[in-house]
Amino acid sequence: MKRRLVSICVLLVGVLTFCLMECDSGVSAFAPKVISYPLIGKVIGIDPGHGGYDGGCEGEKGTIEKNVNLEISLLVKAELEDRGATVVMSRESDMALIDPKSTKGYKKRQELNHRLILLGESHVEAMISIHMNASTDRTARGARVFFKEGETEGQKLAQQIAQKLIEHDTQYAKGACIGDYYMLNACPASVLVECGFLTNPVEEVLLTDKEVQKELSVAICDGIEEYFAQNVVMNP
Ligand SMILES: [Zn+2]
Repeated sequence: MKRRLVSICVLLVGVLTFCLMECDSGVSAFAPKVISYPLIGKVIGIDPGHGGYDGGCEGEKGTIEKNVNLEISLLVKAELEDRGATVVMSRESDMALIDPKSTKGYKKRQELNHRLILLGESHVEAMISIHMNASTDRTARGARVFFKEGETEGQKLAQQIAQKLIEHDTQYAKGACIGDYYMLNACPASVLVECGFLTNPVEEVLLTDKEVQKELSVAICDGIEEYFAQNVVMNP
């Protein structure tokens, strides 16, 4: 009994000494950790490329780009909402924003204009257009992230997303690069993510795999989160 009492006393002295040392250094062992949630309250536009009459590119196993774009976009939406962001989608089903039969002239441009107006009216602070790539070179593989030339915010966002995609696929994903895409006019921090090549037979299978789609969507969200976290530090 006496021995147990001595042990408890030794333990208490130890704990007290530890606490006092911590107080001396000005850091309490019991102080709550500061966790930041950079996406809370942010309005983010997600644009699943193509849709409706416009299927986009196609893989040799018959995978149609517009469907994979939408599947990954919906995963990105759910992930961003989980992290506190408000998400505005340019489409949430297999549809185009124009009626191709009654639209005259360059349909593609008019359809994209509708998307830009929709996202612009929602005052999105960042916009991510999701696509799958195609090449005549069947060995071309890996994600690419594009931003508009001269657009600093777009470049920063593209670099953060590309970094996370490279961490996910160190062998094939590439760094951010300049792209000339109409959707990059949605807001300053606009990027277009080509998640991989549907024309690569191996990657076509991967891009339709639910697990891989989830991993890609998490990597994209990690990049968006990092972009806003960095911006908070620079503009307190
Ligand atoms: Zn596309």
